[in-house]
Amino acid sequence: MSEQPAVTTLVDEIRRISYLESALDLLGWDQETAMPRGGAKTRARARGELTEIVHSAWQAPSFSDALRAAEDVVDGDGRSARLVREVRRRYDRRVRVPSSLAEETAIATSEAQTAWIEARSKNAFSQFAPHLERLLKLRRRTAEALRYEGESLYDALMDKYEPYGRAAKVRELGEQVKPTLIELVGKYAPICREVRRDFLSRPFPVEQQQAFGEQVLRDLGYDLERGLIAVSAHPFCSGISSPSDVRVTTRYTENDVKSALSGLIHECGHALYEQGFDPEWEGTPVAQAISMGIHESQSRLWENQIGTSPEFWSHYFPKLVDQFPDQLGDVELDEFVRAFNIVEPSLIRVEADEVTYNLHVLLRFELEQDLLEERLPVADLPTVWNQKMEEYLGLRPDSDATGCLQDIHWSMGAFGYFPTYFLGNVYSAQFYTAARAALPDLDQQISRGEFQPLRNWLRTEIHELGSVYSATEISERVSGTDLHADALLTYLKSKFETLYS
Ligand code: ZN
Repeated sequence: MSEQPAVTTLVDEIRRISYLESALDLLGWDQETAMPRGGAKTRARARGELTEIVHSAWQAPSFSDALRAAEDVVDGDGRSARLVREVRRRYDRRVRVPSSLAEETAIATSEAQTAWIEARSKNAFSQFAPHLERLLKLRRRTAEALRYEGESLYDALMDKYEPYGRAAKVRELGEQVKPTLIELVGKYAPICREVRRDFLSRPFPVEQQQAFGEQVLRDLGYDLERGLIAVSAHPFCSGISSPSDVRVTTRYTENDVKSALSGLIHECGHALYEQGFDPEWEGTPVAQAISMGIHESQSRLWENQIGTSPEFWSHYFPKLVDQFPDQLGDVELDEFVRAFNIVEPSLIRVEADEVTYNLHVLLRFELEQDLLEERLPVADLPTVWNQKMEEYLGLRPDSDATGCLQDIHWSMGAFGYFPTYFLGNVYSAQFYTAARAALPDLDQQISRGEFQPLRNWLRTEIHELGSVYSATEISERVSGTDLHADALLTYLKSKFETLYS
């Protein structure tokens, strides 16, 4: 790459920070997968020190000088200009929040998390309520410090996860999908109650599940020369110095053949995104994710559109039966596919299926926006949560633990994160529609276990753009239209019609 010297200097600066951050990522990875419990205290201090160093690197005069010098020499809309613009966006987010506010928030968050764990175990929202109140106040102040003209407080916080995203757009998409989703649940949940599923919870030895999962990931194109599969309590994907070291985890349950495999395919989608970045630009915005929504679109596309499809299973089911003849010898392919795709309202988001999941997420988005913008008093949260659950999914939680205390996000002050799950589904359906148009043979390729054409298409159209295009720009380039929910609704309607009619 040949760049103007001022841009090269900025790239060097941003890379230096990125390598420090990759050390932090590695400490985090180790903490979740291998660290003995006794290491927690020292690890927290090590991460704290390193975080300080990263923070100072962003604050250094040499960094702001390099940024301004680069801004002076780039113009137009080329890659350099976009790279510099993205660095500016990240820099502003860093320096606009006063360090006293950042420190106060860090302390409040750590206390809120302890209180949340306690409140959840005792089923007592009232114990968590004062912490939530305090966090909301702090996040409002942060949003005031961050927000650009025309942005709402919520937009300013959501920007951390979904740059340039707008709450009003999420609301609009949400209103568009809710009636259809509620209708689909009403239509298919009763049918699914009759669907045979006993075989999914037969004993599937963990080692064999591991071997099968690893083979599937290799087939999908996950590069184990630049990747690693491990076990953790909560599955995740972590780019250590992306794209050359992108790791995934899952967790195995003997009596559940679906969850570990679906989880692995999901994390593999995240990993393929990061492994698909241009290595020449490692450590810069050209080779980093633009948003959690786009990241999630990749995991969802592989997990749902591909990994639950009849085409995918027409290839893999015979192999799964070979691996587990005692458990699956009496099961037909279409029985298996139907069981894999059961629609069933539940109280818990992380256990939700493809149809109900979006309703779980929209409920949280609506509530957190109302909390932040002071339309909903904290004390009313459990009541309103339960009402909405009843309205959207026909279920009423019998405790706060299975209601508004179930997710960790609010105790971390992560307001604005939930919409990215929903946006991921919206993007993934738009991308998949575009992929099918670009690759007319896609269904047949998948049923032959050929994933390279789709992977290459995703790489060129999405992965290689990194974060120098916004999520909206990417979705417009790929699908030729603005962000919309029609693709998601069409996909869900036609899939479940075919499966269960
Ligand atoms: Zn994910």
